[in-house]
Amino acid sequence: MAETLLEVKQLTNFINGVWGESGGKTTAVINPATGETVVEVPLSGAESVNEAVAAAKRAQKEWALVPAPQRAEVLFRVGTLLKERKEKLSQLLTMENGKVIEEARGEVQEGIDMAFYMAGEGRRLFGQTTPSELKDKFAMSVRAPVGVVGIITPWNFPIAIATWKSFPAIVAGNAVVWKPATETPIMAYELAKIFEEAGLPKGVINVVFGSGSTVGDAMVEHDDIRVISFTGSNDTGRNIAGKCGQQLKKVSLEMGGKNAVIVMDDADLDLAVEGILWSAFGTSGQRCTACSRVIVHEAVKERLEERLLVAMEGLTIGNGLDETIKVGPIINKSGLEKIKSYIEIGKNEGAKMLAGGYVMDEGAHAEGNYFAPTLFTDVTEDMRIGQEEIFGPVVSLIPVKSFEEAIEVNNGVTYGLSSSIFTGDVNRVFKAQRDLDTGIVYVNAGTSGAEIHLPFGGTKGTGNGHRDSGVAALDVFTEWKAVYVDYSGKLQRAQIDVE
Ligand code: NAP
Repeated sequence: MAETLLEVKQLTNFINGVWGESGGKTTAVINPATGETVVEVPLSGAESVNEAVAAAKRAQKEWALVPAPQRAEVLFRVGTLLKERKEKLSQLLTMENGKVIEEARGEVQEGIDMAFYMAGEGRRLFGQTTPSELKDKFAMSVRAPVGVVGIITPWNFPIAIATWKSFPAIVAGNAVVWKPATETPIMAYELAKIFEEAGLPKGVINVVFGSGSTVGDAMVEHDDIRVISFTGSNDTGRNIAGKCGQQLKKVSLEMGGKNAVIVMDDADLDLAVEGILWSAFGTSGQRCTACSRVIVHEAVKERLEERLLVAMEGLTIGNGLDETIKVGPIINKSGLEKIKSYIEIGKNEGAKMLAGGYVMDEGAHAEGNYFAPTLFTDVTEDMRIGQEEIFGPVVSLIPVKSFEEAIEVNNGVTYGLSSSIFTGDVNRVFKAQRDLDTGIVYVNAGTSGAEIHLPFGGTKGTGNGHRDSGVAALDVFTEWKAVYVDYSGKLQRAQIDVE
């Protein structure tokens, strides 16, 4: 099927508006649902990064002078092309990443929404005007582009996250060097083609394929890259942050989560079950916002367990291209091994496993990387399965006695990405949205479902204070510049010549 959707057998870098030559060192992109090779991707060296950064640096000077509403026109065309190709892109996305086709369509839609939203920023990019403390003096702040931006993205949202980062960067007048995850490079190839067709000047976006340790590291170390915007694991993020810190380079990090759904004693349990199922097992639990803990009031624990078990029986697991499938494969064998190891950890810690807990490798599942949706109960806050990111279809029920305890358990992890509460009590709703220490809070919905015009990111170990998406994303890709215009015709000294 890949042959009919992809016109190439090997992807190539896109640098300075030119597609590279095939050949050189490559690695296979494997469909996690079938084990088949979809395409080969280059493993570029640091010299490709140097070439891409040089092209971006040249292009950015011109691009920054294009009026922002005209820069936005390119994004409008990108949005239209994404829309036209939505089905093809969704199928390719399912093939490289494994997520079920319905979710792949949702992810591409996120890119479409982001294109039109950020294109609108071309006519906003608001700064502020404010009175000066001096007579006949004007004061304002404006956003200035940063220069060359380095974008490093993970495999679990291969197109959405790239659009959260590249679209605001481009509309703000920067040029981009993008290293997509080696597991999922096809969306990067397709998006670069769309940028090209939309008429983005050469060099404004450059895609370099290759490993994190070579290409990613060369980007982080490059003097001419002024911002690194990274989404991925905490270990990699910490490493990147350390290196950027040494260079005084701006860095935006979006990393892991240990997200919880709180189910109170007055919750609509059927709704809570739907929310948990969607956020724990959607994308096979491989979302940064996946629900990995359910903090349940003891009064409804047993009823919730029963209903969850019944609902889990209805989950169909298999190749996500089949429209009837609800849960797709795990990205690769090492992901499967990691999930398996957490099952053992949970059992050894004394948690009770109510369902799942095994690799599915028979019959229709023999060739792919499938893990059975898993439910642990009687998990305590201090257990590793209650603290660490598993990144698979595994959810842990933690019983609590009160609303206050639920909030405390939610906040008692090192991450702070997303949280949710199911309750009918308006007072609890407002206390919860105030006290849950996460960047995203849902009420009567699961832990996933971000919309692109709101900020996306987390507190504590999830990030370093920046946000993707929404207008907040512009803060990553712009510098604030304060401008004072004195039209008094004399020297006026602030704080001194004030009457
Ligand atoms: P990862 O291993 O950290 O990889 C992320 C990206 O970093 C990949 O492109 C990777 O390249 C690159 N990389 C690896 N080592 C590098 C280095 N030394 N220098 C520079 N770049 C390097 O993470 P992942 O396993 O792909 O993604 C899963 C993680 O992402 C989870 O923890 C999840 O929670 C998090 N995530 C967070 C958000 C959020 O917004 N908070 C959203 C989605 C995912 P290679 O692919 O070539 O190794």
